[in-house]
Amino acid sequence: MVCKTDPNEGAKGVSLLMCEVDDLKGFSRNKPLKKVGMKGQDTCELFFDDCRIPIENILGGEEGQGFYQLMAQLPRERLIIGVGAIAAVEAVLEQTIEYTKERKAFKKPLMDFQNTKFKLAEIATEAKISRVFIDYCIGELNEDRLDNETASMAKWWCSEKQFEAAHQCLQLHGGYGYMMEYPVAHYFADSRVQMIYGGSNEIMKELISRSL
Ligand SMILES: Cc1cc2nc3c(=O)[nH]c(=O)nc-3n(C[C@H](O)[C@H](O)[C@H](O)COP(=O)(O)OP(=O)(O)OC[C@H]3O[C@@H](n4cnc5c(N)ncnc54)[C@H](O)[C@@H]3O)c2cc1C
Repeated sequence: MVCKTDPNEGAKGVSLLMCEVDDLKGFSRNKPLKKVGMKGQDTCELFFDDCRIPIENILGGEEGQGFYQLMAQLPRERLIIGVGAIAAVEAVLEQTIEYTKERKAFKKPLMDFQNTKFKLAEIATEAKISRVFIDYCIGELNEDRLDNETASMAKWWCSEKQFEAAHQCLQLHGGYGYMMEYPVAHYFADSRVQMIYGGSNEIMKELISRSL
């Protein structure tokens, strides 16, 4: 948990605490929130009313380091979102190629229409470009060199590619694509939040612009 441990300090008044909540007096959870997608995640509000947390539960053992600890992990968090995004692009593309080869309209597979081929060719190209960039970022992270702006580029670029790919692939499924029994509908619903959490994509561009 990110905690304000000194209300008189700004960033220096923040600490990270490990909370063992099972028998924690004053702790409660609300019902899972009704999200657009990511239904498998039980995202909910947590309440901490006058909870007492032992001092030895401070992560890193030193009070007031929380903000800096969080900042140090942001490139990694943003890269994780980028990795998930590009994996989703590849998966929705593969599933849509399969679908468009099977489904027939006007007596021929959807894949035989030029529009289908061109759309899928565009997505395949962007998937490859994104993967090359993500692999580069993973290499940089492994060498402890991944900077904030490059991680922000990976987060905004790949999450937008994920949303665009899911949107285009859903369109290629026609009406079936709007039904939750088809995987493409889940790819579409799950993709939206990727542009919001982990720092919104507008904030990513703000961070990148500071390095220009
Ligand atoms: C499903 C889900 C899971 C989440 N999980 C976590 C989690 O595990 N941990 C966690 O800490 N947070 C989590 N979040 C919170 C998430 O990180 C925030 O929702 C996100 O950072 C955006 O902040 P906000 O909601 O306060 O939007 P706001 O800050 O109110 O932004 C609203 C709009 O204004 C834009 N905006 C805001 N400031 C600027 C600016 N300076 N310049 C230009 N545009 C701007 C934003 O880009 C956005 O489009 C989660 C959110 C969701 C939806």
